[in-house]
Amino acid sequence: RAKDHGRNTYQFYTEGMQEKEVMRLELDKDLDHALENDEFVLYYQPQLDLSNGEIHSVEALIRWQHPRRGLLAPGAFIPLAEESGRINDIGRWVVRAACRQLARWKGTPYRNLRVAVNLSGLELDDDSLVDSIRYALHENGVAPSSLEVELTEEIFIQNIEHNLNQLSRLRKLGIHLAIDDFGVGYSSLAYLRDFPVDLLKIDRSFITHVTHRHDDAVITRAVINLAHNLGIQVVAEGVETEGQLNFLRHHSCNMAQGFLISRPIPPQDLEKALEKGLLTTGVPANS
Ligand code: C2E
Ligand code: MG
Ligand code: MG
Ligand code: MG
Repeated sequence: RAKDHGRNTYQFYTEGMQEKEVMRLELDKDLDHALENDEFVLYYQPQLDLSNGEIHSVEALIRWQHPRRGLLAPGAFIPLAEESGRINDIGRWVVRAACRQLARWKGTPYRNLRVAVNLSGLELDDDSLVDSIRYALHENGVAPSSLEVELTEEIFIQNIEHNLNQLSRLRKLGIHLAIDDFGVGYSSLAYLRDFPVDLLKIDRSFITHVTHRHDDAVITRAVINLAHNLGIQVVAEGVETEGQLNFLRHHSCNMAQGFLISRPIPPQDLEKALEKGLLTTGVPANS
């Protein structure tokens, strides 16, 4: 009996592992058709300008409307797409979708919105990235200054020369560059000197406890000062409370992004929230 029990436990365990692996393989296979079936969508999360309470930029965050599993967050499939190399095609889709959205907002009250897209380091490796972005802008008649690219510090660790060249080309086009998740990477600060950075986004992990943890408050203030002294603007990520918002406003952070202001939402919902003035005061739009 003990042996049976042991074997059952063992079987149960392997079945559990297999299930996870099966799901991974399945998602990986489904990714093949996701683009052709038009299953990706962009949600938009507004960034609140703390100097005037206005929204003039939004971050585009990808979602996968999976035919059986429902709406999937990027954490469920971006790593898979990076492993299989499909991330490059997905990235192109993201840039084009963001440009199409910018084109749709022309001549509307939302015409001045800037859209930030996330690019992984792997996407930056691709030599044709800059041309494809230039083409997407041109194809949609969108000004490069309406587009922002968010990259994490990983790009300053490897392939530095190539990445510097890519960023310079993007910057020359007139695209704004933001460093995402700032403060949790392993890179040195030298890149702030060597790379053409417009914005730093302070990682959520510093903001979460900023009102009651001395060290997080010190780091956040220091990052804001460092950036400002270098002529770089600062966005705080993951702002969830009024207390955090007040702290950031008090310390001259330029922008705040987080569930307090709004979750990432479909463009139609964003338009409605902006129209109703729901996002200008820090009232949650979709809570
Ligand atoms: P990120 O660029 O740092 O995006 C911020 C993430 O934090 C988003 O998760 C957002 O929903 C979440 N967030 C925003 N405000 C709050 C808050 O107040 N509290 C909490 N707890 N979370 C908040 P999401 O949409 O699941 O995206 C996760 C990551 O996936 C992104 O992190 C980004 O690195 C990546 N990602 C998203 N879209 C794309 C894309 O189009 N391409 C690539 N390569 N990566 C993407
Ligand atoms: Mg981002
Ligand atoms: Mg981030
Ligand atoms: Mg992140």
